[in-house]
Amino acid sequence: MSGPQKPTGPINGHLGKAVQASDLDGNDLPPSPAPSSPHPGRRYNIATELVYTEGHDQYGASSTPIYQSATFYQNPNGGGNEYDYTRSGNPTRTQLERHLAKIMSATRCLAVTSGMGALDVITRLLRPGDEVVTGDDLYGGTNRLLKFLATNNGIVVHHVDTTHPPAVHRVLSSKTAMLLLESPTNPLIKICDIRDLSEAAHAANPKCVVAVDNTMLSPMLQNPLDLGADISYESATKYLSGHHDVMAGVLAVQDAGLGEKLYFSINSTGCGLSPQDSWLLLRGIKTLGVRMNQQQQNCQRVAEFLETHGFKVRYPGLKSHPQYDLHWRQARGAGAVLSFSTGNTAVSERIVGGVKIWAISVSFGCVNSLISMPCRMSHASIDEATRKERGLTEDLIRLCVGIEDADDLIDDLQRALVQAGAVNVTPGDFQAFSNDNDNGNGEGSSREHTARQTQI
Ligand SMILES: *Cc1c(COP(=O)(O)O)cnc(C)c1O
Repeated sequence: MSGPQKPTGPINGHLGKAVQASDLDGNDLPPSPAPSSPHPGRRYNIATELVYTEGHDQYGASSTPIYQSATFYQNPNGGGNEYDYTRSGNPTRTQLERHLAKIMSATRCLAVTSGMGALDVITRLLRPGDEVVTGDDLYGGTNRLLKFLATNNGIVVHHVDTTHPPAVHRVLSSKTAMLLLESPTNPLIKICDIRDLSEAAHAANPKCVVAVDNTMLSPMLQNPLDLGADISYESATKYLSGHHDVMAGVLAVQDAGLGEKLYFSINSTGCGLSPQDSWLLLRGIKTLGVRMNQQQQNCQRVAEFLETHGFKVRYPGLKSHPQYDLHWRQARGAGAVLSFSTGNTAVSERIVGGVKIWAISVSFGCVNSLISMPCRMSHASIDEATRKERGLTEDLIRLCVGIEDADDLIDDLQRALVQAGAVNVTPGDFQAFSNDNDNGNGEGSSREHTARQTQI
């Protein structure tokens, strides 16, 4: 057995500091990790790329080692090793970032401590007076951060219905510094035309940065960079990790200059992902393919079950989705999140309280199935008036489908629907009660919802 390989240069602790590199703006910075070179050879299909990694470990470790070290020794003559300080770069994080670049159609990827951390890094590109054009059904945390920037940093934010291109075109101008998109949105599952809107934004202002939050689909099902976006980012807390045991965010770009600006913020604020979490995320990504396939197959079954029984279901896997064709032009799958309404908040509450397998939880992307009422949980930070204005009704239920057996998931849901009085269960009939009263105030339906509670 051979001993550990000695580093080539002398390692005299703190005697020297690596050669200082300058970033684009001429700031002195520690050397950044080597830019990703994700495609040294042949490019495989995504299911293969997710699993296949090229490492250069000295012992041939098949799992990337966790470099649990904050500092790295430098040469006394100022010659640099590739790493000096983990805030600036860490080998485990670099391995993750290169792997991500490969699967996100990027030349450079950056890993940070959460999805919101990723958006924070992106919005640091903005200056007071800059305008941001974005959707009206945003992730709650995104909404909150934009509101903070509008209140404190002089950023002007336009919320428009991004499913309606003229509404977007109307507010785009030479002052638009950023177009921020989500598709599909959560929980209303609205789809926007990423390619068309990116082109329009770049036409209005060639310097406009188009950023797309790709959390709902993951790189397995959609690549915003291939559709004209400048930045694709996502909460890796969701599908990329897949087990709700790590929080992380990732950013991907094709433009090296933009990548360097984002890296500057990450290094300046210290939000790079820790070695341990980078390792966990690398492990999660290996099973993204099988997880996502199973999750969206299950979700399709659940969506069809609910729709056949008369519920208004929002899911791009259903032909009834108003942007079905658009979605399938830009994505390779429908994902595993749907929402549906019952027309009555109290009934929705009873459904959520009645299921057993479906855990009540915010978030999504986990291997187990989750149920929630967005207005009570993930979207509670949006005030009631705004929620109402944007069509986020109080009775809305969101399902995030996991990898369990689809029959078990449907049985559990069916039992809860019956117990909650959401369906008419007279013999030969199993249909949702009138679903036309969508006001979501809990008083809408005059139906008797409790009478048949225990018939099945
Ligand atoms: C969860 C989520 C985020 C925020 O990510 P965190 O990792 O929780 O910070 C951003 N966008 C979407 C669409 C999300 O679902």
